[in-house]
Amino acid sequence: MISISGQRQFQAWQDKVLPPVEEVRPGVWSIPVPFINNPMRYTLSYLLVGDGAAALVDPGWDSDEGWAVLNAGLAVAGLRPADVTGIVVTHLHPDHLGMAARLRAASGAWVALGANEPLPSHWRSEPARFLAEDRAQYTQWGVPQDFLDEVTFHRDAWAQMTNLAVPQLRLADGALLPVAGLAVRVLATPGHTPGHICLVDEANSLILTGDHVLPRITPHVSLEAQTQLDPLGDYLNSLEIMGAGADMEVLPAHEYRFRGLPHRVAELREHTLERSLEVIAVLDAGSAETVWDVSKQLTWSRGFDSLRGFTLRLALAETASHLVYLAARGREVEIEVSRGTPTPATP
Ligand SMILES: [Zn+2]
Repeated sequence: MISISGQRQFQAWQDKVLPPVEEVRPGVWSIPVPFINNPMRYTLSYLLVGDGAAALVDPGWDSDEGWAVLNAGLAVAGLRPADVTGIVVTHLHPDHLGMAARLRAASGAWVALGANEPLPSHWRSEPARFLAEDRAQYTQWGVPQDFLDEVTFHRDAWAQMTNLAVPQLRLADGALLPVAGLAVRVLATPGHTPGHICLVDEANSLILTGDHVLPRITPHVSLEAQTQLDPLGDYLNSLEIMGAGADMEVLPAHEYRFRGLPHRVAELREHTLERSLEVIAVLDAGSAETVWDVSKQLTWSRGFDSLRGFTLRLALAETASHLVYLAARGREVEIEVSRGTPTPATP
């Protein structure tokens, strides 16, 4: 069993309200920022205060409301936005990187992403190509014409993504955050995204896990980026290395703090492998010819037909990640799984 150390966060989660700002350790603050119109409801930002320097990890979804909440949270810690010297982002998703541009504008802080997080070169400059490649991918995956509009990206999604900050710094595995007075180490954990990172604060016995390990939900592992050949294989490998934080308190980017990382890691591994067995059973049945066909035959909590829009997109990308995972392990998979454009997509 995991033990929930963030009891006030857990209570807030149950009550469907925003958790309080909390000082988890001296100089380590948890600041929940609203994740607008999403069932996850908030991103847990973490403020790490050093000597005349401070890093904010995952500033959260960009909104005026979120900005006000973040400012109020910084004020509880006795800081203003201008006091933030660095912005560290665990991965390139808008509920993590979203407010980085606004915070950078207010503070001049650098923005740092994991060394392996891809930034598609034509993503800002060629929206038409970006959208066409995305549509081509889902077409190849067997998505019926009637559903293509809802699963693929449109100009509004593109516009939202192009608002994201461009990083000034890239953080390699094992690097220390360049913040005076802190000894926080980067742990590369590809899977949820190719360049996802966790942060290890040995002195405080804390591990910040971003979306890699969450206490309640299983992170999405999607086939998205062209640079990531086998996201599910990467994800499972990245679970293996979590022994580094076995006895530490876990500070995830959503839900609530907990202890018992090895137990949670084992659950996530088991859940993932069970899902792969289910995909194998569908392949063995022999009637599936596309990613869409396979997805349709898998079990989904509210049934495949209830999946619509972005949720349907995620389901298909998850199925695709299982197909390439199995093919990479020598399993005969006759379904061709192409990939279009690398996209920052999954919350
Ligand atoms: Zn997230």
